[in-house]
Amino acid sequence: MKKAIVLGAGGFIGSHLVKNLKNDGYWVRGADLKLPEFSASAADDFAQGDLRNKDFVENIFDQEYDEVYQLAADMGGAGYIFTGENDADIMHNSALINLNVLDVCKNNGIKRVFYSSSACIYPQVNQIDPANPNCEEKSAYPAHPDSEYGWEKLFSERLFISYNRNYGMQNRIARYHNIFGPEGTWNGGREKAPAAMCRKVAEAKDNSTIEVWGDGLQTRSFLFVDECLEGTKRLLRSDVDKPLNIGSEEMVSINELAQLVIDISGKNLTIENIEGPLGVRGRNSDNRLIRGRLNWAPSRPLQMGLEATYAWISQQLESAKLAG
Ligand code: NAD
Repeated sequence: MKKAIVLGAGGFIGSHLVKNLKNDGYWVRGADLKLPEFSASAADDFAQGDLRNKDFVENIFDQEYDEVYQLAADMGGAGYIFTGENDADIMHNSALINLNVLDVCKNNGIKRVFYSSSACIYPQVNQIDPANPNCEEKSAYPAHPDSEYGWEKLFSERLFISYNRNYGMQNRIARYHNIFGPEGTWNGGREKAPAAMCRKVAEAKDNSTIEVWGDGLQTRSFLFVDECLEGTKRLLRSDVDKPLNIGSEEMVSINELAQLVIDISGKNLTIENIEGPLGVRGRNSDNRLIRGRLNWAPSRPLQMGLEATYAWISQQLESAKLAG
């Protein structure tokens, strides 16, 4: 039986990845500060602890793994990353996790670690025109991410690549673009646009309004979590040693995203654009490289993922109401 370890297994993507690897027949150990929030972990073994603590990292690498996935990071939605208030923690915590994980893996003879970087590493200057953002992999340099979260990801990408260069490792790096789906954070300030939109629409009374941050013309693409996992596994098992985008190329404005969710709900709602933290003006995945290198790219329409997410968030709201 193949063995995998998922770091960040209590988080959104990590908990889905554990389930996915279990379905593939793997023995899976998860590690995280916390257990998954919305359902029990499917992991065979779950080590709860702090990856900033090197002893903990050494303890969980007490055996061999066929696949190692490093998804743990201090992260959140626009309300967490872009205010500036959490910058020191974001940089310190995530860098320390990556430093520990790589060093322990190198010392234990583990050759290959998957690392989840982010579209947030791309330069702000290439994302000013909402109609034509440039997120081609090679446009990352000269670097100028719009957040310290992005700078830390860029540092860690380079760290993983340095271990390839100097220690003969074969680390694999994905730049995820806005992953969403059921069992993701949907309230409290760390949720991202699709979940926030689903919650606002599900909470809204018919014939009322929902608030959308900014003028709503900023553009993004959103990738459903199942396709993110498919890309993640394909990349880890490939020979691609450069960072690859894993994202959707279906770019929408934030107002269009809101309207899609409104249409799914069947409610009659008006969008009210208000001031709020924004991030870059436009961002879309560029999938030419992944298509060329993996002979695969995400293809599922945004609408399908939103339907599943809206249904799940509506259920969460109902359960919260029943619980009083
Ligand atoms: P998440 O916040 O749900 O999961 C991250 C997990 O890491 C959390 O469960 C958290 O408890 C854990 N963690 C943080 N600090 C830790 C520590 N010191 N020790 C142990 N565990 C710790 O985030 P996610 O959406 O599942 O994202 C997973 C990875 O993908 C992250 O690295 C994130 O930066 C990256 N990413 C995600 C997206 C996205 O849209 N979700 C986009 C780009 C990149």
